[in-house]
Order: sequence, then C-alpha cells, then structure tokens
Amino acid sequence: MDSRMVESYALGRWHRATDEGRAVVSPVDGAEVARVSSTGLDVSAMAAYARETGGPALAALTFHERAAALKALGLTLMAGKAEFYAESARTGATERDSGVDIDGGFGTLLSYASKAKRELPNATVHLDGPVEQLGKKGTFLARHVFTSRRGVAVQINAYNFPVWGFLEKLAPAFLAGVPSIVKPATQTAYLTESVFRRIIESGLLPEGSVQLLCGDPAPLLDSLGGQDSVAFTGSAHTAAKLRAHPVLVERSVHFTAEADSLNASVLGADVTTDAPEFDLYIKQLTTEMTVKAGQKCTAIRRALVPESMVDAVVEAARARLERVVVGAPGAEGVTMGPVVSLSQRTDVLAAVDKLRGAAELVVGDPDDFAVVGGDAETGAYLPPMLLRSTDPEAPGVHEIEAFGPVATVIGYRDTAHAVELVARGGGSLVASLVTADPQLAREVLLGIAPFHGRLLVLNAEDARESTGHGSPLPVLVHGGPGRAGGGEELGGIRGVLHHMQRTAIQGTPAVLAATTGQWVTGAPRTEGDEHPFRKSLAELKIGDTIVGGPRTVRLADIGHFAEFTGDTFYAHTDPEAAAANPLFGGIVAHGYLVVSLAAGLFVDPAPGPVLANFGVDSLRFLTPVRADDSLTVTLTAKQITPRSGADYGEVRWDAVVTNQDDSPVATYDVLTLVAKTRDGGEP
Ligand code: NDP
Repeated sequence: MDSRMVESYALGRWHRATDEGRAVVSPVDGAEVARVSSTGLDVSAMAAYARETGGPALAALTFHERAAALKALGLTLMAGKAEFYAESARTGATERDSGVDIDGGFGTLLSYASKAKRELPNATVHLDGPVEQLGKKGTFLARHVFTSRRGVAVQINAYNFPVWGFLEKLAPAFLAGVPSIVKPATQTAYLTESVFRRIIESGLLPEGSVQLLCGDPAPLLDSLGGQDSVAFTGSAHTAAKLRAHPVLVERSVHFTAEADSLNASVLGADVTTDAPEFDLYIKQLTTEMTVKAGQKCTAIRRALVPESMVDAVVEAARARLERVVVGAPGAEGVTMGPVVSLSQRTDVLAAVDKLRGAAELVVGDPDDFAVVGGDAETGAYLPPMLLRSTDPEAPGVHEIEAFGPVATVIGYRDTAHAVELVARGGGSLVASLVTADPQLAREVLLGIAPFHGRLLVLNAEDARESTGHGSPLPVLVHGGPGRAGGGEELGGIRGVLHHMQRTAIQGTPAVLAATTGQWVTGAPRTEGDEHPFRKSLAELKIGDTIVGGPRTVRLADIGHFAEFTGDTFYAHTDPEAAAANPLFGGIVAHGYLVVSLAAGLFVDPAPGPVLANFGVDSLRFLTPVRADDSLTVTLTAKQITPRSGADYGEVRWDAVVTNQDDSPVATYDVLTLVAKTRDGGEP
C-alpha cells in the first residue's frame, strides 16, 4: 500500500496541504502510510462555516429527520465496511480490533438513530420535566426546554479508535442539531479520512454539518465562542493543556475530556478457583489486555483480587497470555497486533519500568518474545505483560498508566480494602466486579460508584449476554470523574442533550403551549362542532377539546363492575369493611370503572382517523367516587407527533375527570394513533 496525502474536508470541499506534511509510519512494518498536514487551509474559517451553513441546515430538520439521515448513513457505511479493514490493519489492528472500531462505529450511528426516533419528539425542541406551577391561580407557569446551541461541536480524538471515536461523538451532536468538526489523531487520520470520504460522497448529511480537520487545530480553537464545544479524548496531559486554553476559558467554551484511566477489575471474595466466575475473571482480564493491544481507554489496568488468590490468578492468566500470538494483523494465527507507533511502544516500556518500582513483571518479557509475520525491529510490537504488585498501597500501581497490553495484579485484604484501592485510581471510566453474591456486589458498587462512569458485574448468570468490561455502549454513559477527565459522553439521549441549552421559560399557559407545541392546563381550549376524533392528524390542533357527561355512577354499576371483572376488593363490595377504611369511609367505585366510564363519555364510536389507543400515562385517582356521584370528562389534544415514514402519528390527550363539585377525580394522558389524513392516504 503506497503512502498518500491525507486531506481535510472543510468549507465545502476537500483540501490538500501545500506542504509535504508529517509522515505517518505503520507500526506493523515501519513503512510510511500517509502524510498529514493542514498547511494552506484556512482553519480559522471552519467554525464560522459550520455555524452559518451546517447549523441552519440542521436546525431545519426535526429530531426524527436527523435520526433518519443517521440511520441511512449507518446502513450505507455498514454495507461498504469491508473496504476499511485493510487500512485498519495498517494501524496495527487485528480483524477483531477492527470490528470493534469499524462495526462498532457504524453500529453507534444506528443505535442513536433508533433511540432518537423512540425517545425524542418529531420536533426541534425537547421538553425537560413537568410544568412547574408558580402562581396559585395557574396563570404563571414555567417549563424547562432544550434547544440546539448555535455553535459547532469540535472533537479532538485519540489515535486508538479512528472510526468509532469520531462517530460516537458525531451522532449525538448531529441529533442535537449541532454541526461537528472532527480532528482525528495524526497517527491514524488516514482511516478516519477514508470513512469521511464515504460520508461526504453519500450526500446524506447536510453540507456544513460535518467537516474534517487533519492537521493543526490551534487556529480553530482560537475561533471558538460560548455556543461552541470541544470534546477531547486523549492523554491527561493534553486534556489539562486544553482545559486551560485561554480562549476556551475566557469565552466559556463547553469543554469535556475523556482521558486515560486506571480501570480496575475486582475478583469477589466469594469466588473460588473452581467456580465458573474464576474463569470468567481470567478470560475478561486477558481479553482486555490484548484487544487493541491494550490501547483502550477502558482496558483493565488493575486486577484486584483477594490476597489468597494472587498466585492462582497470575498462573491462570499466564496460561492464557502465553497462548497469545503477537504479530502482523492478518498473519497466520496472530491474535494481537503491535501498538500504534514506535513512540507509543517506548512510552509503554517506560511506564512498565516505572511500575516495576512497586510491582514485579511476572508474565511477558519485552526483550524476548516471538513476532509472527512482522518485523520486530521496525514494528511496534510488545508481548502482553502482567505485573504483580509487591505493595498494594504503593501509589505507582494506582497512578501510572501503561497504555498497552499491560495490567497489574494487586492483592486486597477484604472487601472494604478492595473498595479503597479501586478509589485510589482517582476516578475511572469503568470498573468491573466478578461475583455471584448480590450483597457483596452492592457493597462494592455503592462504594466505588462515585469514582466511575460505568460499572459491570459479571457472573455465570449474565456472562453469555455480557457486553464486556471494555465496551462502551451507545445507550450507557461513557466517561468518568477526576483522572478519567471528568467528562461524559454517550448515555443515549443524555449525550444529545449535552449539545443543547436547557432554559427555564416562565409565562402564561398560552405562551408555554405556543412555544413548546404542547398544550398545558390553563392554555386555550377549542370546543368545535366536530368531535376531535373525527379529525385527521393534519386537521387536529393542540387545544382541541371534547367535554363528555355528566354520568351518574350507581351502586349497581359498582357491584356489576366488581362481578364482571372479578375485582371484588372490599372497598367496592363490603359496606362494613369499606366504612372502616380511613381513606374511603364507605363503598367507592373502582378507579378503572371511572376510567372506563370516562372513555364511554369521550369516545366517538364511528370508524375514523383514530386508529388505536396504545396506553395511558400518569394515571392518578385523586378523589374517591361514591354511588350517585356524577362524572364529567374533559379530553384535550395535548401533543401531536407525526411519525415520519408512517401514514399515522401519535396524539397525546389530556384527560381530566371531575365530579359534581368540580373536584378532579382522575387525571391521565390518553395515547392514541391517528391517521395523517381522513382517507388514510398521503397528507
Ligand atoms: P494526545 O493527548 O497527545 O493526543 C490526542 C489528540 O489531541 C490528538 O488528536 C492530538 O493531535 C491532539 N492534540 C495533541 N496536542 C494538542 C494541542 N496542544 N492542542 C490541540 N490538540 C492536541 O494523546 P496520544 O494520542 O498521543 O496518546 C498519548 C496517551 O494518551 C496514550 O499513551 C494514553 O495514555 C492516552 N490515551 C488515552 C485515550 C483515551 O481514550 N482516554 C486514547 C488514546 C490515548 P495529533 O495526533 O495531531 O498530535
């Protein structure tokens, strides 16, 4: 494979640097793969271009339309994924490693697309929490809303996941309606650029919504402002530098970092060597040490095991690690590739040397190991290396990160000691615990949760389905406090909301309804001649209302309902026992009878645009209903959500049932599916 010049995609076109650029060599054989530079590109203009071109294009789309674009992109990339594997191998990744990066990245787009369609409205504003009533009369309310920031999401990525790393940041920002500028790590930028070319060629994302900067990001950072964000993944050193960047500080640019962390895996004190959990622990530890040659921010660096189990764990891990075949990705039998560069290899060896101050190297000799199909001199190969701590309290093993196939086994006295040692990491992305004892799990989890973004408990029951210690998932939080950088990414819709501004809006019910598109109590209602159930989704408006009733509930109705349904609870059937009930003081109607009668009062029975009732939300029974009480129901269209790609949508109705004294008896939301047109055709 010849070396090539990596280009940037900026300001609506591809840019080739005007100089020779920085040479990137493959860690597999030392051959030059690419050259990277942004010389000649007006990097300082990229943020403005994103805000002025990409931002408005994204703002014109609803969450569901953005989700549809992401889904189409994910499917397109997935269908052509094979072409990226050869270049991925040049970065040192084995086929398994490439799957995590490439398939994992494309899968993240698909996961986010489906989550957004299910959990975000088909609108551009996301509501946060309930209406807050601020005045006694209900004329002054408040509600929190999320709107898209008008800036750009800059991502500065690490070398280890050239595909997943940028897509896991891109998906939430795109859904939030914020354009992205992707700055990949120079060492593996060529693979990011290849995927980016397919994204641009697909034409599926609006122009300006994504740009690629391969080279120096300094002028970009200088052009950022208060609506922009920077999400960084990489070393703690660079994170600290960026966090203190004068422009980011002065203009309060949103900054999050995900840095290296000393993730722990704890073997529970309940696990014996013949328990299935023991094998699970060893397998997970050795897998985490060798996938991506240990260059994963989530890899296990500290193996915490009961003191009495240290020897057994070291020997069992040795047996597995000695079967690892180090060499060129794709060569016969190779199960672990090189680290990403010779300088990374040097860094790892230096870190191992430092670790040896508080631990002994018990498995793997960096001066004596076999390399299959690659050049041990020019390639960046290392054997898996397991250390055994000589002093669990020594700070080194809890502070020094060897970002390669390296872990240290540390003995703990008891569970409280294990919790204390895990926390010595100063904040990590993830920790795992292998135990079959839920009470032990509780003690460890609650003890270490404040120091972590994600915790995994593994045992024989969940092992088959477990996604593993080292796999961040789109639906789960990825990030950690303190040493891990203090940031948070992914986590489903939480990750989308990181790119949006939460604002408390105070005003009248009518203002809130008009602004949010959701009817609230006190906002105008429209009672027309036509029953709202006769209206198609296109005709229905929020505030459209039907009032049904009154209907008197007789004792015979309550008795009949009890007999008919079998719900003969004493409060509905036994006058004496009901009289002794402190809340009721006599026979009351079933709550479900009230809801059923209310449906009888508001339903329009003829076939029409209302297709189905798919549930109720927030059902509360507020005042007991007694025999001879009279019920009235008011049903108001509260939220109308057309489904893209379907000829119907969802309508949420506000339902209030009151008695003859106007006291609310029951409140709830009725959820229905309504056709977009009266005849079921295209609107
Ligand atoms: P760096 O922190 O050096 O680089 C990460 C990213 O930041 C790269 O895109 C890099 O660009 C960029 N960068 C570097 N300096 C600046 C700067 N002054 N301003 C703006 N951007 C900058 O980390 P490395 O990739 O070199 O990895 C070094 C160590 O980081 C590893 O050994 C490991 O300990 C840790 N690491 C942690 C990861 C994690 O996921 N948490 C992942 C990878 C590494 P460029 O490549 O062009 O220099």
